[in-house]
Amino acid sequence: MVIASDVSERSEQRDRRRPVRSIDVRTTGWAEQHREHRYGSWKPRLLWALTSRSWVKLPINFFLIHHRDGPVLFDTGVDPALVSDPNYISQAMGRFLLNRIFRFHLTADDRLDAILARDGVAARDIRLAVISHLHFDHVGGIAHIPKARLLVSEREWAQLSEPHPEREWILRDHIELLGAHWHPFAFQPTDDPIFAGFDGIYDVAGDGSMVLLPTPGHTPGSLSLLIRQDGWAPILLVGDLTYEAALLDQDTIPGTGDADLLRASYENVRNLKSRLPDLVIVPSHDFAAADLIANATAPRPVSASRSAGR
Ligand SMILES: [Zn+2]
Repeated sequence: MVIASDVSERSEQRDRRRPVRSIDVRTTGWAEQHREHRYGSWKPRLLWALTSRSWVKLPINFFLIHHRDGPVLFDTGVDPALVSDPNYISQAMGRFLLNRIFRFHLTADDRLDAILARDGVAARDIRLAVISHLHFDHVGGIAHIPKARLLVSEREWAQLSEPHPEREWILRDHIELLGAHWHPFAFQPTDDPIFAGFDGIYDVAGDGSMVLLPTPGHTPGSLSLLIRQDGWAPILLVGDLTYEAALLDQDTIPGTGDADLLRASYENVRNLKSRLPDLVIVPSHDFAAADLIANATAPRPVSASRSAGR
């Protein structure tokens, strides 16, 4: 016989093991980048930036995660003011180079607050955003989420104190906003063997469902977000660590970033995948992101998620 309190206790337990309701992939427009940028090249960065004639498309995504404690963003996309406001990037040199590295296709509808509104979420209600790294196409929406705590790694934040961060597309004007609640954090040591090789972890909600891992290389303080709960395949949102999941498996380094740091992070992620065999790797600028998330979160046998390391 099942009594009512057993049923509610069981559903409470299930809730505790499944704190994330959904993960939505949203795009703040799309762009084109050079083939050498996405897939790597023997040429130095400036050379391919100025001479390449091959362009490949990429989406500029962010992720809306519905956690029990409230909606959480992973990155905030690009601000369409980049194409509509000629002063958005104040330096002439920056504008000149940007047009040689990217072609942007953005509309006013692609702004973070407009996208969230279409999802029934008021931008002002967002209380937490995890920023994978400080590039302008990941922090572009922060002006529209004034109540959000903006989590960024201490190492990434330190770039603002180094000379000329704008040379690496870290644009102070769009980061150091009045009233922006930046929260640079330090990764905490862990003895959990799942995370061996990573230089610490950061448990975002305190329930193990959203864990940040340092994955430097694209920028010195880039991070990834591991989402784990019963019934789903574990998901690793890797930001710009790679532009396509297969490139990480093949050890194909892109045309930007620190190659040695990228290779070390690739290895750490592949080792994580060997310990969490169902791990789904989701890059930010991958058109396959929505399909990857849909597959990872599709209903599956409980035993499968258990064997994935829960
Ligand atoms: Zn980037």
